Amino acid sequence: MKNLICIECPIGCGLQAEKNGEQWIIKGNRCRKGEQFAINELTDPRRSVCSTVKTIFKEVPRLSVRTDGEVPLKSIFEVMEQINRVILERPVHIGEVIIENVCNTGINVIATSDLIYLLEAK
Ligand code: SF4
Repeated sequence: MKNLICIECPIGCGLQAEKNGEQWIIKGNRCRKGEQFAINELTDPRRSVCSTVKTIFKEVPRLSVRTDGEVPLKSIFEVMEQINRVILERPVHIGEVIIENVCNTGINVIATSDLIYLLEAK
């Protein structure tokens, strides 16, 4: 049996997951979201990644970024390595893609701050 805590809402139900053949049986959830959360965690865990990238602009040396979806948990270190290698040489608006299809996950890394605005404000 595996124990998990559902993070889909602030209640934080304690879940118990047991395998029955190929199927997971989930208990302790107060709603269906908890069952889906547990099955996803057990079969294909994913996470959003938030970080920053370097820029060439000394007024704004780092820009905040995030993935525009969840990447497989097993790819997170590889995703972070790719993010850490970026040196942004062009001003970008919020939401612009900084890394397309990061680590072949089908997910993009996008800007979460507006570098053009930040540079003009300096
Ligand atoms: S199982 Fe439902 S009620 Fe419980 S924490 Fe998850 S989302 Fe919230």
